Amino acid sequence: MKVIIIGAGIGGASAGIALKRLGHEVVIYDQMTENKPVGAALSLWSNGVKVLNWLGLADEVAALGGRMDDMAYLDGHTGETLCRFSLAPVTEQTGQRPYIVARADLQTLLMQRFGMDDIRLGARLVGLIANGAIVTATFADGSTDTADLLIGADGGRSFARDYVTGVAEGGPKIERTYAGYTNFNGLIPIDEAIGPANQWTTYVAEGKRCSVMPVAGGRFYFFIDIPQPAGVPYDRAEGTQPLEAAFAGWAPGVRVLLDTIDPEASLNRVEIWDVDPFHTWVRGRVAILGDAAHNTSPDIGQGACSALEDTFALAITLATNTISVEDSLLRYQRIRSHRAADLVLRARKRCQETHAFDPEATQAWYDRLRTEDGSGIIRGIVGNIVESPINLGGGVLGPEGVDLR
Ligand SMILES: Cc1cc2nc3c(=O)[nH]c(=O)nc-3n(C[C@H](O)[C@H](O)[C@H](O)COP(=O)(O)OP(=O)(O)OC[C@H]3O[C@@H](n4cnc5c(N)ncnc54)[C@H](O)[C@@H]3O)c2cc1C
Repeated sequence: MKVIIIGAGIGGASAGIALKRLGHEVVIYDQMTENKPVGAALSLWSNGVKVLNWLGLADEVAALGGRMDDMAYLDGHTGETLCRFSLAPVTEQTGQRPYIVARADLQTLLMQRFGMDDIRLGARLVGLIANGAIVTATFADGSTDTADLLIGADGGRSFARDYVTGVAEGGPKIERTYAGYTNFNGLIPIDEAIGPANQWTTYVAEGKRCSVMPVAGGRFYFFIDIPQPAGVPYDRAEGTQPLEAAFAGWAPGVRVLLDTIDPEASLNRVEIWDVDPFHTWVRGRVAILGDAAHNTSPDIGQGACSALEDTFALAITLATNTISVEDSLLRYQRIRSHRAADLVLRARKRCQETHAFDPEATQAWYDRLRTEDGSGIIRGIVGNIVESPINLGGGVLGPEGVDLR
């Protein structure tokens, strides 16, 4: 079967690898002219890593991943440790170590494994038409291509999503919702004055957070959240100025982090948006996947992992059902849309709690961190993973009698 995928992000590229491995002829189109991912790194939790293992990339992903053994929360003002604990139970319970990977490295790995010869860059999808079992895609330069199946992995502002929900015929336009904060992120050399080299260290206060996670190559991935309205102007030439203003007088570790950031080398700023869960992901022989279907705020680090779960579910349904492509896609939608919605809502809840939209709730969370022995946080992390379709391969081994959700 000929498959067109729109979008060479983590969702599209991983789906491309899976569908090629099933023997399909796959071509990926992307509007970008070069591989330049937004965002410096990603936490790949056990569910995401397992899908990559299933795609035959276990060794490569392990080589890209930083060694994250422990986790700690610190008071942002004083630097006092609120809690510190081992993340080993996540690996023991799920069967797979999570990894933090540089986004560009993962993206390059996926695109190369898929095959650069079958990726067409600089191709923006502007039209979709179905005629019986044939789907025709039209691109901004006027060119067209046809396929038996089209996967829209075209991100949070998806064009394919509008086709699937039938916007042109009066169907719902799925809009994104502002999550209420801006995220700065990048890569820096590891400096243990910020936190130990093998630890996910997070400084919290005032609904803001400064976090570092270890990535391969002696680097920290840093991400820093500032609650603020959407649309606050920012010019790249400002560099870290907004961070200096937001974190003046914070703990010495935060000072070192801000001093270590090289805006020329690695500093991204992104407003965080998500979409309300919706359950129409398929129309005929067109399906959406990844952020196009479930744009998730990064508060539980599950957006890309969820896209990888889509890839797994899509490939399994296409490989095992034989009624029709349309039927397989509806099964994919049924397996995925409620699970993905759960993660979107979990991320939203976490976003509310951490960013002081309700200051009392955030203060209560800070207070709880002081008494946290790790078990509550581990339960939350594993709870995000326990329902993953990839867990067919052994599942989650939780402590006896404990409901991991
Ligand atoms: C700050 C931040 C931190 C994050 N951290 C994590 C994390 O730690 N862990 C995690 O799992 N997730 C994380 N996420 C979420 C994760 O980045 C996304 O869920 C994931 O990248 C989505 O992949 P995708 O392939 O679906 O979409 P995208 O990566 O958005 O790719 C879509 C592609 O489609 C192309 N495209 C769009 N429109 C068209 C068109 N009309 N024609 C042709 N091509 C088109 C784009 O150029 C793009 O390359 C984070 C997100 C943010 C913003």
